[in-house]
Amino acid sequence: MKTPITRKQFLKISSGFAAAATFGFPNLILPRRKEKLGVALVGLGNYSHGQLRPGLRITEHCELRGIVTGSPEKIPEWQGEFGFPDKNIYDYGNMHQIADNNDIDVVYIVLPNHLHAEYSIIGADAGKHVMCEKPMAMDEAECRAMIEAAEKNRVNLSIGYRMQHEPNTQTIIRYGREQTYGRVTGIEAAGAFNGNFPEGDWRTIAAYGGGSLYDMGVYPINAIRYSSGLEPIAVTGVLSTERTEMFPDVDESAIFELELPGGIIGKGECSFARNMNHLDVSCTDGWYRLSPFLSYSGVQGETSDGTQLPPNPNHQQARQMDNDALAIKEGRPPLVPGAEGLRDVRIVQAIMESSRRGGERVEV
Ligand code: NDP
Repeated sequence: MKTPITRKQFLKISSGFAAAATFGFPNLILPRRKEKLGVALVGLGNYSHGQLRPGLRITEHCELRGIVTGSPEKIPEWQGEFGFPDKNIYDYGNMHQIADNNDIDVVYIVLPNHLHAEYSIIGADAGKHVMCEKPMAMDEAECRAMIEAAEKNRVNLSIGYRMQHEPNTQTIIRYGREQTYGRVTGIEAAGAFNGNFPEGDWRTIAAYGGGSLYDMGVYPINAIRYSSGLEPIAVTGVLSTERTEMFPDVDESAIFELELPGGIIGKGECSFARNMNHLDVSCTDGWYRLSPFLSYSGVQGETSDGTQLPPNPNHQQARQMDNDALAIKEGRPPLVPGAEGLRDVRIVQAIMESSRRGGERVEV
């Protein structure tokens, strides 16, 4: 029979780990959770290039070790900057072979919305943890298939709702939970930008998950849910398009209301036709607001008692990827799991259904 180690022996061993971590002894004696996880970005478009690339240069718990792309001309820039070997470069046809690549622990799906489910599932089936951009997928069935694939393969699935990782957003989530300004009585959230899209852009095509509600509407929907801590019972909504030549088959704008338990109404708005970026929460004993509430930087706010919530200087996407990587290393679920993305996709679809029925109330 083995003799159990004494507390003194345990402290000696663990202080050895601490010393190794401090003085940089070889990997051999470092616990694996100290290592960075290897990420492969899937889809090297605007968001990957403009936001995730700089984020991945400063992350502490993960680093870029590979790419999946359909555009060979993009490879030299990424490989030159991050220095990964040729064997870590994939295309959409051979991405499943990533299963044999021990450099890669996580695939981050940054594709047009209609491809999120397919490539998340390929990643999970390859035994890799999955980070997937918002909106999670096209419909509830796709979201469920993604969640099942992650569960079956025992990997984490996190959705790229960066706001839930943002410090001022986390403060107002806490205000709601702790009722710092009393009970939440109403919420208004609007996320919109004045956009011009070239013909054929996937954001203008319904089959690719285009439209303002999928793209921007999930921000106010998610904000109404995280500010209140409540799940909608029913929704009403109206989708509209003025520039029909640019958006022949998707919504350019949408307004909607989420009916929360206790008669609380969350009012939401999104658009590709104008700029809006605010989250206002009314409570029984005061109010608070974030404006902007969804920008990549500068999210800031104030409250009815004069408390200021100044912008946090840290890189949002780095913080999100580090939080998700740390959850993987520590073997716990991510802050924003697949179930969270599924709830919003279900609400998006209910709002679309309400609009088809002339703005009727649709139960969720
Ligand atoms: P882009 O159109 O700029 O990039 C998408 C990339 O996907 C392309 O560059 C291409 O990469 C790849 N791709 C593969 N198949 C197709 C196809 N059929 N049509 C077009 N592209 C294809 O989109 P974004 O980067 O703006 O958005 C990607 C995802 O990220 C979306 O889900 C979006 O909602 C989300 N997003 C999230 C943001 C956030 O703040 N969380 C902000 C912006 C976007 P390649 O050439 O490498 O194959």
